[in-house]
Amino acid sequence: MKHPDAIVVGGGLVGAAIAYGLQRTGLSTLMLDEGDVALRASRGNFGLIWVQSKGINFPPYASWTWDSASLWPTLDAELRDLTGDVLDLHQPGGIEFCLSDDEIKKCRGDIRRLHAHAPQVAAEMLDHKALSKMLPGLGPDVVGGRYCRGDGHVNPLSLLRALHKGLLTKGGEIKSGSPVRSIRHQGGVFTVATNTEQHQSARLVLAAGLGTRDLAEMIGLDIPVRPIRGQNLVTEKLQPFLPFPCATIRQTGEGSVQIGASEEDVGFNDATTPRILNKMAARAVTIFPHLKQARIVRVWGALRIMSPDGYPIYAQSQRFPGAFAAVCHSGVTLAAVHTLKLAKAIAEGALPDAVSAMNPERFANAQT
Ligand SMILES: Cc1cc2nc3c(=O)[nH]c(=O)nc-3n(C[C@H](O)[C@H](O)[C@H](O)COP(=O)(O)OP(=O)(O)OC[C@H]3O[C@@H](n4cnc5c(N)ncnc54)[C@H](O)[C@@H]3O)c2cc1C
Repeated sequence: MKHPDAIVVGGGLVGAAIAYGLQRTGLSTLMLDEGDVALRASRGNFGLIWVQSKGINFPPYASWTWDSASLWPTLDAELRDLTGDVLDLHQPGGIEFCLSDDEIKKCRGDIRRLHAHAPQVAAEMLDHKALSKMLPGLGPDVVGGRYCRGDGHVNPLSLLRALHKGLLTKGGEIKSGSPVRSIRHQGGVFTVATNTEQHQSARLVLAAGLGTRDLAEMIGLDIPVRPIRGQNLVTEKLQPFLPFPCATIRQTGEGSVQIGASEEDVGFNDATTPRILNKMAARAVTIFPHLKQARIVRVWGALRIMSPDGYPIYAQSQRFPGAFAAVCHSGVTLAAVHTLKLAKAIAEGALPDAVSAMNPERFANAQT
């Protein structure tokens, strides 16, 4: 039986950011993770740090996202100093391409609504000519695009590894292959049981991605997340040609080109399908015709953690003080605020004001 100051359930990007963040405030932290058999968005995502489309209709989320993108250089420098790992962080601004006038109209409308409450997210529409100057080799059928200087990208696997390494380096503990089966609460202490062990702590954070829903029920919290599949393709390594991350295409530090951004509601099914992969590849070739020659070396599917309105859910149990839950759809983007702000607030005993509108009660209120 272990007695750390805090237990975090889930070792993906959200759990690891919070666990590392708690440990760096001085709380001894144990992170329990199901392990290799689990569904893990953190190992199958696109690696964008993306602000231009976030919180268009929900100001608190736009601010939270902007804060995170702004704090990313701090997190990057801290993890590099601590672990020696290079996360390949670049924030040169990002582009969403538009292939039709309808797409232009939608992007332009989104900017107008976003700027009404978040003018700091300085997104702007660029026409084909302006984009071609930034991106030689752009296809003639790209009508224009939305550029935002706050966007960037990172190697998400390096980020995950660095957060785990950072937690261990600061004295925290990780137990992989430890699916949590039950949670009990008595006398202000949570007892968390895996198949073989029990751990106790007065502070508990559930950040287990799609697994959070079932775990949260054990402490009376309703965290209504569901899976949304995203498929991905990766090409062989190419000469550098794409200096900006884009909403559906990015070139990694190693040179390969990642093509993504499909969304399908197909339950707990992380398979790939030729129909969707072909559609994604065709759009990428329209944007950059030379990609037609590139060989695809890998494809995969992964499941997003989606709330009913697409925004994060941060919960604090009223019935069991000390228990928290955190789930979100953009755990790469939000890694900096999760580490540097959310974890600090949880260590101090309460969620930060910045996320108060992102509580799960909003779904109950929406139904009444
Ligand atoms: C295709 C795709 C593209 C994406 N692109 C981006 C992007 O460009 N930018 C961005 O910001 N975000 C992106 N995301 C989202 C991002 O990947 C997720 O928000 C993030 O990875 C979620 O992390 P998580 O820790 O909540 O969940 P996960 O990574 O799913 O991890 C959950 C962890 O909880 C553990 N677990 C589950 N149940 C239990 C249990 N009972 N006991 C113990 N452990 C348990 C599992 O082992 C797992 O490791 C993308 C996601 C997908 C699928």
